[in-house]
Parts: sequence; C-alpha cells; structure tokens
Amino acid sequence: MSKLALLGGEKFVTKDAGTIFDWPIVTKEDEEAVLDALRKRKMSGSDITKAFEEDWCKWTGSKYALGTNNGTSALHCAMFGCGVGRGDEIICPAVTYWASCTAVYNLGATVVFCDIDPITRNLDPKKLEAKITDKTKAIVVVHYESYPADMDEIMEIARKHNVKVIEDVSHAQGGKYKGRMLGTIGDVGAASLMSGKSFAMGEAGILHTDNREIYERAIAFGMYERFSAKDIETDYLKPLAGLPLGGFKFRMHQLSSAMGRVQIKYYDERCAEIDKAMNYFLDLIDGLPGMRPRRVDYSTGSTMAGWYATTGIYVPEELGGLSVTRFTEAIRAEGVEGGVTAGCNRPLHTHNLFKTADVFNDGKPTRIANSDKDVRELDNDLTVAEGIGRLTFHLPWFKHFDKELIEQYAGAFRKVCENYKDLLPGDEGDPENIGGWHRFTHDKKK
Ligand SMILES: *Cc1c(COP(=O)(O)O)cnc(C)c1O
Repeated sequence: MSKLALLGGEKFVTKDAGTIFDWPIVTKEDEEAVLDALRKRKMSGSDITKAFEEDWCKWTGSKYALGTNNGTSALHCAMFGCGVGRGDEIICPAVTYWASCTAVYNLGATVVFCDIDPITRNLDPKKLEAKITDKTKAIVVVHYESYPADMDEIMEIARKHNVKVIEDVSHAQGGKYKGRMLGTIGDVGAASLMSGKSFAMGEAGILHTDNREIYERAIAFGMYERFSAKDIETDYLKPLAGLPLGGFKFRMHQLSSAMGRVQIKYYDERCAEIDKAMNYFLDLIDGLPGMRPRRVDYSTGSTMAGWYATTGIYVPEELGGLSVTRFTEAIRAEGVEGGVTAGCNRPLHTHNLFKTADVFNDGKPTRIANSDKDVRELDNDLTVAEGIGRLTFHLPWFKHFDKELIEQYAGAFRKVCENYKDLLPGDEGDPENIGGWHRFTHDKKK
C-alpha cells in the first residue's frame, strides 16, 4: 500500500496543483497599466520608472532608488557606487548566483569568496574578518534563498574596517531582518526583479540607498540621461555631468515599470499568503527524519517574505545515507510539483571563470589580472560551501494556501521518509544533478 511511486507504487498526491505554482500573478490591472504605457509610446522615457522608484522608496523606507534593466546591472551600479575600482577586492559568499559578484571584473577588481554557514546558508560572519584586506572595498551580502543574513554581525565587522556593504536582495524582496527591511541595513541594496524572482515584473532590477554619493555614482555609471549638472550634489561628479562614466546604459524598460507599479501594491498581501502556505507546510514536515526546516525565527521580527527558491536542510545520515538526488526523485515521483530538486547554486570558486578564464586577454586569469596577490589561494577554506549541495533540497514553492494540497504534499514527504530503505539498493547518487550555475557548465570530475 505504501509502495513508493518511484518503485511502481501509487502516487501519493491525487489533487491537481492548479494555479498554486503560477507566478507572478497577473491581473487586468497589470494588463491595463502595460497597455497604457504602450499606447503612450513612452517605452524609452523615465516617467513611469521614476514613479516606480518613488513607490519603492516609500515601501522600503529608502531615500533614493534607481530602476535598472536587470538585477545584474543594479549590482554593477552598486559596486561602482561604493567606489570599487581597479585592484580592489569585494567579498562575496561562495554560494550564490554568479551575478552577485561577477560584474567586478568589469571594474578591474576581483572577488574574494567567504564560506557560508551550514544552517543559514548565508555568508558566515565568523569567517568574514579573515577575508578583509587593505584592498577590500565592499562586502556583498546575499539574503540567500529568502533567508536574511546575519546583518548585525556583518555590519559590525564592516564598520570596524570601513568597508561598504551591498545587500543583494534578489532572493528576498520585502523580507525583514529583526524588523528592518532587507536592503536598507547595508550601504546599498540591489535586487533583481525578473520574472523568476518573488518580486517579478519582467526583466528589471533596482538599487536603493540613503547615501547620496552612492546614488549619484550609480546614475553616472549607467544612466547618463539622468546625470545632469543641476541635479548632482557630489562635487567631484559635477564637472563630469552628462557623461556616461561607465559606458553602460542600464535604463529600465517602461513596460516593466508599469507592471511593477501594479505589482508593488499587492506584493505584501501576496507574500503573506505565500508565508502562510509555506509555514503550514514546514510545520507539517518538521520532525520527519532526514530534514530540517530552514526558516528564520519569526519572533525576532525576521521574515522570509516571498520564500523565493527556499530550501530544506537534508540530513542523509538519518535516512541511511540516501542521496539527495534519489530522495528528491522519489518525492517528485509521488506527484509533488513545484520544483523539488537537489542542491543549490554550485560554489562559484570551483568554476573556471574564477580559476583560469582570461576574459580580457591579460595573459593571466581575470581573477588575478589586477591583483598584487593570488586571491585564488584564499579559496582553500570554503569547505561548507563545497559540501552544501548534497545537504540541500528545494521545497515546493506554494503561492496560495490550499490546505488539502499542502497536506497531500507533506504526506508525500512523510511516505518517502518512512520507506527510505526501499530506495537504498543501487543508490549511488547523481552528483552531476546537484544544483547548477544556471547556464554555467560544470567542470565534470574525471
Ligand atoms: C537573479 C539574481 C541576480 C541577477 O538578477 P538579473 O535580474 O537576472 O540580472 C543577482 N543576484 C542573485 C542572488 C540572483 O538570484
């Protein structure tokens, strides 16, 4: 009766998933807003984007916001905004999407990776200070897979060493750390707003800060048409007004801005629904062998907001060493949809882009092209990052509270845990399918 579906038994889940995983939610109001912008033929202007930036400032409590064409360019602007330049270093967690740090190459700077904490899967503040040198200009903190990073500890270290903090909020828009909005704790927040993220409005990104100089440098870098002498307050930038300092044009598309203005009105209430569904699911699977929920303590005022790409902590020892790939395969076979896959982003330092690739024909790897030392040697202590994939599985990302469906999904998890022994024979794991870099090919082990 409880034969696993992967081994030929009945699927546990009988209810159709319906629209529970559909995202973003697009209504007539989004359609009208986009059509209105289209009919005004304003696609290349900035009016709707400026209105969206005001909405964002109001929502986050930031003084300044700058809409961009994607999150990668928002991060690029944030790095330039913090003064990162040739020969400088930024520090970034070893496990994140590549866009958290890769733009530094274009600034002639490099990246030093810091290990992650095995529970939060965020930059481990205990390992941060050792990575700071006199070249460090900024720390990129990622609130990875919706879990707020340890900002108090990180800010204390950053302030002590006079290093700027960039919060990459691409996984956690609207999330809170001890009651404070993510992206407003460091010197500057930057986020992707592309359709896969929890705050989704097409291809777009945003940077926000209370620091006028960072804001103006970001404008100078990628928004030449807004870089005008009459608006710029930073003295050394004034003589350069109007010039495209970065050589980039990062303007947000007006159709995205129009959609974003509608999305932001409903975002908090939609997140509250996601929150209710995800917490209910985690309560149901909490205590099953082989897994631990990875969620913040809500009583501290921290939240998971949109629960983007959230993962569970996998404990294979409690399931006889069952591989996470076999485990997730068995869960999916029970009829569980919503992206239950093994692993997370592969550690960046293990990829050739951060080891050997000579992107700009320097005759040496780009990672060290402008450095006075070989920062790759500092990658030798990233042990948690290197082992995290096999201890990680993605949770189904529910967008609505459908009690019956969520209970069926939890039941499918329970069924697999109770019958794990049937999965052990022949299980060799499938390391090639533990996470990925999203379009980065993986150096296959020989
Ligand atoms: C998606 C993502 C980005 C990049 O955003 P785009 O809008 O895709 O350019 C940056 N950082 C993280 C952590 C991301 O997940």
